[in-house]
Amino acid sequence: MPGVPESFHCETCDREVAAGDATRTETFGGLDPETWQSCCCPDCGRKLKTVFVGLEDEV
Ligand SMILES: [Zn+2]
Repeated sequence: MPGVPESFHCETCDREVAAGDATRTETFGGLDPETWQSCCCPDCGRKLKTVFVGLEDEV
């Protein structure tokens, strides 16, 4: 899926977080939550990356 890496690196926990394990939250700053989500570390909650998810539902 374009725009979404398979994993993220959490500098706080010094670990790799698989994209499927990351906690997704709405972004701040007025971005469309249907299109943009923040991927956060499931352990410490650190925001790892804001990803574009607008195309995920299209097959
Ligand atoms: Zn972490």
